[in-house]
Amino acid sequence: MTRALITGITGQDGLYLSELLLSKGYEVYGLIRGQNNPKFDLVRETVPGVKLLTGDLGDVSSLLRALEEAQPDEVYNLGAISFVAYSWENAMLTTDVTAKGVLNILEAVRLYSHDDPSKVRFYQASSSEMFGKVQEVPQREETLLWPRSPYGVAKVFGHYMTINYRESYGMHASSGILFNHESPRRGFEFVTRKVTHAVARISLGLQDEIVMGNLDAKRDWGFAGDYVEAMWRMLQQDTADDYVIATGETHSIHELLDVAFKRVGIDDWSKYVKQDPRFMRPAEVDLLIGDPSKAHEVLGWKPKVGFTELVEMMVDNDLAEQRANVGR
Ligand code: GDP
Repeated sequence: MTRALITGITGQDGLYLSELLLSKGYEVYGLIRGQNNPKFDLVRETVPGVKLLTGDLGDVSSLLRALEEAQPDEVYNLGAISFVAYSWENAMLTTDVTAKGVLNILEAVRLYSHDDPSKVRFYQASSSEMFGKVQEVPQREETLLWPRSPYGVAKVFGHYMTINYRESYGMHASSGILFNHESPRRGFEFVTRKVTHAVARISLGLQDEIVMGNLDAKRDWGFAGDYVEAMWRMLQQDTADDYVIATGETHSIHELLDVAFKRVGIDDWSKYVKQDPRFMRPAEVDLLIGDPSKAHEVLGWKPKVGFTELVEMMVDNDLAEQRANVGR
């Protein structure tokens, strides 16, 4: 039985990846942080087959203990402080977890597998936010990185450290440069979920308006369920490498609002949407669009869910959740 250890098990990707690995017959261990973590029950209910271990990306000894316990063949490092806007307000904490946390787990894996550096296959969750002020359109694995937020800078550190451990120690360490990926499990702070949740509530008369930031930014949005499949495929290759995972399509926040409101029968959304500088960022990433051709050619990976289908799935889920709340 193949064994996997996942950090960031409580997040959207951790849950989808757990489901995928369990369906493949893996023994799955998840690292969970802190005493009385409020998301403990969520993980237990969603993926009861996962064995939870306590540990923290900031504590190398806890990582070593988790590795000894799980004895994993594959480690997926999905744990991070991942909200870009928050990273300006908490730049050092973001750096500690999102940057140095990667070094901590790489070092723990190196120490754990010192007799055979290729014993454990390692996946690092890198991000399209590393491209920031994009130097090329679309963005590929070789595109110069120009991060525009403390979060983006931290992810660049993790990306290069993963490559460095691969090159220095011969570790099977891969970095997936994932463009924005969303789902009904996305946190409410991210723009897709914020919009689909508000639109569902507006259509049910539970809310009057939604207050937004920059509506002109463009993102390459895919479905998280498709993206975790790419993570797994990376670790099944003989050689570790870096891959851009994206749809190759970009859409603006305007288009996101169009599709979401249309799903509930509202064509002109202007009276429901306000803008506030509170949601603007000190530096913006204006345009992200990825070129996933390497992932397609080498991993045989292609996204299945497109932009419209994704947004509609999220609106439908939020409508169902809100209706259930009202009925309660
Ligand atoms: P990110 O790409 O990881 O930063 O994902 P987000 O979903 O947080 O933001 C995507 C884009 O939506 C960014 O360019 C934001 O500036 C823009 N945006 C516009 N209004 C909002 C808002 O109200 N909340 C968030 N989170 N983003 C917004």
